[in-house]
Amino acid sequence: MEEKKTILIVEDDKYIIHFLMVSLKEEGYSCIVAKSVKEAISLFYANKPDLMILDLGLPDGDGTEVVRSVREISDMPVIVVSARQEEEEKIQLLDAGADDYVTKPFYMGELQARIRAALRKREGAVTKKTVFEQNGLKVDYEKRQVEVDGKEVHLTPIEYKILLLLIANQGKVLTHNYILKEIWGYAEGVEAGTLRVFMATLRRKIEKNPSEPQYIMTEVGVGYRFR
Ligand code: CA
Repeated sequence: MEEKKTILIVEDDKYIIHFLMVSLKEEGYSCIVAKSVKEAISLFYANKPDLMILDLGLPDGDGTEVVRSVREISDMPVIVVSARQEEEEKIQLLDAGADDYVTKPFYMGELQARIRAALRKREGAVTKKTVFEQNGLKVDYEKRQVEVDGKEVHLTPIEYKILLLLIANQGKVLTHNYILKEIWGYAEGVEAGTLRVFMATLRRKIEKNPSEPQYIMTEVGVGYRFR
């Protein structure tokens, strides 16, 4: 199961805190609450949350200070939830590093959608580069396009999945069983020979000399490794 995401709620209105906690917990998040700028910063350091929901009017200062100090060390998504309407202020906040802005009163459904989008965006930014390039092999993840020395190569969906798996684990030896499970979802019932066939066609398509591969190396009796 996926690990629970932790959301830091920075808010001094107890009714809004209660409403946010109930709704976010229902969605499967775990929540921590800070009621001031000072508390927000110390809980941020102590808990390393995945996302922050931030009110601007806090008893000991302005939420913008929180955004600034968080941004010095972290790219955690920050969604501002505030009654303030001024366009100017929103722009300042976004410039300070906030990811999104929701105006009070807000619909929980809208806030939830923005939370999901912010988390997705951050995950994508961490795990996925848009283009992989090495010695003439180029993979464009967004276009799902593979090129060798500038020429497009057509891979079947399974070949493409295998290639991405190998690249994502560059340098590591992946066992036959691991690859079978990752690509087909199970290892039983898929013959090791099937994988060998896919590897052979993949090599024919991307290697300059398939019998002396420069990308996909065979680790005899174990599996494959992307060099
Ligand atoms: Ca407030």
